[in-house]
Amino acid sequence: MMELKMFINGEWRTSNNKDIHEVLNPATGELIATAPRATIEETKEAIQVARDTFESGVWSDLTAQERAKYLYKIADKIDERFEELVELEVMNNGKRKAEAEFDVGDAATCFRYYAGLITTPSGETYSVPEPVQAMVVREPVGVAGLIVPWNFPLLMSVWKIAPALAAGNTIVYKPAEITPVTAIKLFEILEEVGIPTGVANMVLGKGSVVGQTIAESKEVDVVSFTGSTDVGRQIMKAAAGNLKKISLELGGKSPNIIFADADFETAVDYALFGIFFGAGQVCSSGSRILVEESIYDKFVESFIERARKIKVGPGMQEGVDVGAIVSKQQMESILEYIEIGKKEGATLALGGNRLSENGLEKGNFIEPTVFTDVTQDMRIVQEEIFGPVVVIQKFKDEKEAIQLANDSDFGLAGGVFSQDGAKALRVIKKVRAGITWINSYHPTYVEAPWGGYKQSGIGRSLGTYGLEDFQEIKQININLAVEPVGWFS
Ligand code: NAD
Repeated sequence: MMELKMFINGEWRTSNNKDIHEVLNPATGELIATAPRATIEETKEAIQVARDTFESGVWSDLTAQERAKYLYKIADKIDERFEELVELEVMNNGKRKAEAEFDVGDAATCFRYYAGLITTPSGETYSVPEPVQAMVVREPVGVAGLIVPWNFPLLMSVWKIAPALAAGNTIVYKPAEITPVTAIKLFEILEEVGIPTGVANMVLGKGSVVGQTIAESKEVDVVSFTGSTDVGRQIMKAAAGNLKKISLELGGKSPNIIFADADFETAVDYALFGIFFGAGQVCSSGSRILVEESIYDKFVESFIERARKIKVGPGMQEGVDVGAIVSKQQMESILEYIEIGKKEGATLALGGNRLSENGLEKGNFIEPTVFTDVTQDMRIVQEEIFGPVVVIQKFKDEKEAIQLANDSDFGLAGGVFSQDGAKALRVIKKVRAGITWINSYHPTYVEAPWGGYKQSGIGRSLGTYGLEDFQEIKQININLAVEPVGWFS
């Protein structure tokens, strides 16, 4: 059992608060760690450390190449500790091993990407109507508050930490309370590579205490948040105090549109991957499958036949396709949605139950669940369930597919399957979402921007956009004809 500590001003610390959080393995219910719950004062202290460190210039004044060197070293250490990180991620989050392998590999890639990006040309020059040289330079925003969820504990952290550090900010970071384990390892790595004291700070604890304090603090210049839409709204309100910059990556209820002319096997395969990858606890999950009328019955039959064969179990076990649900609370919330779906009159075409036999007794497992015969007003069609639960709907034509796809408060992701390239592009262009795929679903690339339309968020992570979240833009005008302006005669 691990006793986790916070990392503030280069020191590993506990909290004065005697209240601790028990971190559980979602596949077994076993206690794997205890974590402190920081107080408001301790959070403020960490923020002040980040503020003072930023002002000292010990990080922001380094050249881009110098900062990049640290980032490359972090990536190398992640590679060195690959197996350990994978095992811990599975143990803490419950996901299947292959998913954790992807996350850890991508975390290293993300550090390398931003190490490279920060040393590429940046800024612009302008031709202006004066003998003036106008130019734009990019500078760090200052103190960055980083708040992440539990579904990709390491990867979501890295999507923020890598660009924030590359840009020259200092950070105050908070993992989700239930999944802090790999974050601790990441901070051990930051310490090992010798990141200057006070640059990277980690506070553990409750969202309503630690997260809220970060979001409210006048000493924090930018807050980057990934999590639910409800908490995103609270962050936005809290950030108003000092009008800090915000970046919000929030929830989704994403449509996956299957046309009759799609490659059938590919469409079924990706539709399964779209919803059951990560046990559906993925913000971009294709949780609304929209199928063209003429192939609807065949699609549902084939989808269910394959979904039925999915093996649910502990993430490290050989042959397991889908891992555990992250917590008891999340499992109960999903089961409640399944009950709501039944009460609303949808047809439960597959699954619907907790799995608690054959070694799964103590874990949080839910079988792949499919609802059909749904209507747009049902909560299971409109709300993010964040579990292995999908609704399959029917559409008549292109127009109706687009209309159903966009009938949502969210706008995170979407997919289209068709072998008619023009139609697929026409439709995807009409889908009001920030992350989309044609004849694919889910692959994510560090080079490309990630984020949502509508209530799925503000701003974009990853790529050049993800760096810009952590940069201020300054114009510098240099007078090339140094003489008095002569305005007052
Ligand atoms: P959550 O909103 O409950 O928590 C996210 C983080 O915010 C946690 O660290 C939590 O402790 C903290 N928090 C809670 N209350 C807070 C407050 N008042 N002030 C500041 N911080 C607070 O989300 P979750 O349950 O951890 O994660 C699931 C959600 O995350 C889903 O809605 C999912 O769609 C979303 N998500 C979005 C993306 C994306 O890129 N758009 C990626 C992953 C997850």
